[in-house]
Amino acid sequence: MRNRPGPPFGRVLIRSGNRAARSRAARGRLPPVARRAWPERTCVGCRQRVPASELLRIVAVEDEAGLALRPDPIRRLPGRGANMHPDPACFAQAVRRRAFGRALRLAGVPDDGALAEYLTRQPPRPATRSGEGR
Ligand SMILES: [Zn+2]
Repeated sequence: MRNRPGPPFGRVLIRSGNRAARSRAARGRLPPVARRAWPERTCVGCRQRVPASELLRIVAVEDEAGLALRPDPIRRLPGRGANMHPDPACFAQAVRRRAFGRALRLAGVPDDGALAEYLTRQPPRPATRSGEGR
């Protein structure tokens, strides 16, 4: 059974009214866009669309302990990924909404302990990481 509260905001369709562009997209080649900026992704917590580089990729891994969320800072792990600001506030929102299960198409609610721990160790802004002493 699938439970879908609210409208699906995750997917944004671009209507160009241009048939050629649409069939090109259907073949897997996207039409040239006006500006080739960073690919944008939606944060599963606050649902803002931001450049993918600002978000932490999260994948679900399954081991003997069950399904668990794992941060993928270098965006290399295989499988479906969810994107989220590396921010505990966004994490809390995503957990409350069970956004990970939806974004990653999981059957159940994954364990998020490892991810929560990762976020607490993470400075709010990874780019400015100089003033921290050991
Ligand atoms: Zn966010």
